[in-house]
Amino acid sequence: MIPGDGIGPEVVAAAKRCVDVAGEKHGFDVAWEGRLVGEEAKKREGSILPEDTLESIGNTHVALKGPVTTPIGKGFRSLNVALRQEFDLYANVRPAKLFEGVPSRFSDVNLVVIRENTEDLYSGLEFRSGAPETRELATLVKSKLKKSIAKNSAVSLKVITPFASRRIARFAFEFAKAKKRKKVTAVHKANILKFTDGLFLESARGVSKDYRGIMFEDKIVDNLAMQLVTKPERYDVLLCPNLYGDIISDLCAGLVGGLGLAPSANIGSGGAIFEPVHGSAPAHAGKNDANPTASILSAAMMLDYLGEMKAAKDLESAVLRVIKEGKKVTYDLKPKKPAGTREMTAEIVKKLIG
Ligand code: NAD
Repeated sequence: MIPGDGIGPEVVAAAKRCVDVAGEKHGFDVAWEGRLVGEEAKKREGSILPEDTLESIGNTHVALKGPVTTPIGKGFRSLNVALRQEFDLYANVRPAKLFEGVPSRFSDVNLVVIRENTEDLYSGLEFRSGAPETRELATLVKSKLKKSIAKNSAVSLKVITPFASRRIARFAFEFAKAKKRKKVTAVHKANILKFTDGLFLESARGVSKDYRGIMFEDKIVDNLAMQLVTKPERYDVLLCPNLYGDIISDLCAGLVGGLGLAPSANIGSGGAIFEPVHGSAPAHAGKNDANPTASILSAAMMLDYLGEMKAAKDLESAVLRVIKEGKKVTYDLKPKKPAGTREMTAEIVKKLIG
């Protein structure tokens, strides 16, 4: 268990409590190992990603994680990206489904974003403006591609491989098959990014041929963004490269009621890390007002992954009932006289106990 920072410790504590209660009810014990990452880890252990955190995940192959603040435009690179790369958590699964009791402009949204998690513009291959290596790159581009880039440009490399593209496409189709979903839509900008997104699309198309029972289509990402806010009912599983998946999944969270409700799983060869889609929301930290739903539903996804499907369903249904009743819910769902994080969690636990 990695509490993270900002609102992380509050929402992760809520999720932990729910998992413990689900365990008592369904007859399993959860042994938690608490570990740190980020600023708190730096203060206490001298590193933002301490060895004992990596060791713990390496041993258990599963973690429940809170959000971590990432400095913008400076400081350390995202720890989330580092963890995903370290454990090869190549598939980010982000469901977005309407909640009864949460007002929405739409009547039918039931989507899952499957985001490639290891490459694309998140590979961390960046050239700083004015650095000697950036000038060398400009010279190389000039000589090989006969095109100019200004010498004071900053450059980030978008890397797409056939291996990672086929692997995530297969994951998306296997997911669709297991969850009885009907269609996979590959999201891309291959009309402009002919080599990188073109490769992603071709790989997805190739894999789709092995899954005749599941429809396959592709959509250009800007068109998809528009269609999602006008006709979200047309979509089912969205297969995205890393950056589009990041943006589109927040959009999907917005369709169904906001970030406070959006869970996610990072799954791969080295195990799985479950975390809310939202960030550390520093303005809300320590105020007992953050919605714990995203973290609790992430914990339910973790139970499902661990084979405790009944407990997972039970926990999810307790959350859905509390939201549907709409009495003990946080400010994002009930601006007037909202419940706090702890009160909402206590209500979910009450429903879970039955
Ligand atoms: P954010 O998700 O932290 O917050 C955006 C807004 O969403 C908040 O102001 C709040 O209004 C709302 N919100 C988020 N979570 C909520 C909750 N549980 N309940 C109710 N409302 C909620 O996004 P941000 O402000 O762009 O990012 C803050 C920090 O979090 C940044 O440092 C960013 O890098 C980091 N971040 C971390 C992760 C992660 O660790 N997985 C993910 C996204 C952002």
